[in-house]
Amino acid sequence: MTTGSLFIISGPSGSGKGTVVKSLASSSPDYALSVSVTTRKMRGGDREGVDYFFKTMDEFVALRDNNQLLEHALFVGNLYGTPRFYVEEQIAKGKIVLLEIEVNGALQVKQRYPECVLIFLVPPNFTELQHRLQSRGTEDIESMQARFFRAREEIMLINKYDYLVVNDKVEKAVECIQNIAFAEKLRPFRQKQIAEDFFGNSSGST
Ligand code: 5GP
Repeated sequence: MTTGSLFIISGPSGSGKGTVVKSLASSSPDYALSVSVTTRKMRGGDREGVDYFFKTMDEFVALRDNNQLLEHALFVGNLYGTPRFYVEEQIAKGKIVLLEIEVNGALQVKQRYPECVLIFLVPPNFTELQHRLQSRGTEDIESMQARFFRAREEIMLINKYDYLVVNDKVEKAVECIQNIAFAEKLRPFRQKQIAEDFFGNSSGST
């Protein structure tokens, strides 16, 4: 049976992961982009059901308690979670499912699905990260400071990831992840059928 895989992209606020992941998802029908639920308030440009499913705290807790979230985490005062059904459905269809989530959620998923692929995205340096988050203009000063602080904590966890991609130019970062996807397909555990079919009808003895 063909089954897909799970790719998790993390990185500090301002690393450009939203842009990279959306561009990757539209590059091929092989990818399916998961849309998270969050208790965060909508900000300018956010679209319900496209960027997130926006929930009240009670709605979020109900989803979590009914085991409808694959993982969930608190990030700078708001809850975020990955709807389980969509991910499982798309993997069963053979897709590469993309989750754009923070580190605690990523590590929860890795524990549950060790074969998932963890990719950490960073801008070239911290100054560039500050510049990107400031010029994005989506956060007030308090949220921006909290996100810079959190960026330092997240970057300490880079070594728990399988791949580190520097997002200097979006197209290059997308290409890197496409190359990772190509290499990951060649892992023996994703190609079990080849070994099983190798000898065909012959016994394998000479
Ligand atoms: P933002 O508020 O900037 O949209 O997202 C804040 C952080 O939450 C980002 O690092 C983003 O990747 C992360 N995030 C978004 N959705 C999820 C999710 O479903 N689960 C977890 N654990 N983190 C998420």
